Amino acid sequence: MKNWILFLLLILMGCSSKSPPPNSQSKSVKGEYISRLHNDTQFQVDPMLPVKKTAYPWDDGSRGSSSKITKDFFRCKGSILNPVHIVTKEKETARYYDCGGSQKHSLPLRDNKEFAYQIMIDLLNYIQDVTGKRVVITCGHCCPDHNLYLDPSSSNQTSKHLMGAEVDFYVQGMEQQPEKVIDLIFAYYTQMPKYKGLKDYQFIRYEKDDKINVTTKPWYNKEIFVKLYKKNEGRDLDNRHPYPYISLQVRYDDELKEKVNFSWKQAYENYHRY
Ligand SMILES: [Zn+2]
Repeated sequence: MKNWILFLLLILMGCSSKSPPPNSQSKSVKGEYISRLHNDTQFQVDPMLPVKKTAYPWDDGSRGSSSKITKDFFRCKGSILNPVHIVTKEKETARYYDCGGSQKHSLPLRDNKEFAYQIMIDLLNYIQDVTGKRVVITCGHCCPDHNLYLDPSSSNQTSKHLMGAEVDFYVQGMEQQPEKVIDLIFAYYTQMPKYKGLKDYQFIRYEKDDKINVTTKPWYNKEIFVKLYKKNEGRDLDNRHPYPYISLQVRYDDELKEKVNFSWKQAYENYHRY
């Protein structure tokens, strides 16, 4: 009999333990209402005004918004993103692929350091300083792959761009006045004390017709050769813009005191590949 009562008690206790689990929130979830007062308004936002750019410590303000030109501006403009350049000649098709640009190779080297001719850097900075406008370099150093990609013609394979001794550029805001920019190049040589009065540095016109792919007779002095490419002249894949442009070639190396002639070794071997 006692056992039977104990059994009944156990059954009753079992039934009472079937209450909801303590963490259940099913009954505590309630909707919350967002209430606004009748005089609520949205925040008023002040109109946006352009903020004047503050100068960086290295920006002395003399060049307007243009950065000072350094050797880095002369780096090869090749890119693996450029599409293949297909040239069809006499029923034969050739495909030229661009180089990997400055991530894949260096500038030309001098004493095992990357190098650009100082006269090109100085002239282009002078133009920026005098005009307050930006010099846009479209082609500085060309590695052999990029040079071939731009223009595979045989005459272009001895370009001084390969040696980093040539630069193509125009001036933003003076795109249609390249003659004025050339006048500034002349002015540089008459104003700089280093050259003043030296006959070798006065400019003369280049009268020969050989290897000239421009209609304007170039100018040259001992140190540089200046060419003006009109709107429809000298177009390659680096110079696809619609403006005339100026090319400077270095003729004399002021540091080494020697002429700068085309050299296969300097053009094809004198740079690092990464
Ligand atoms: Zn390259």
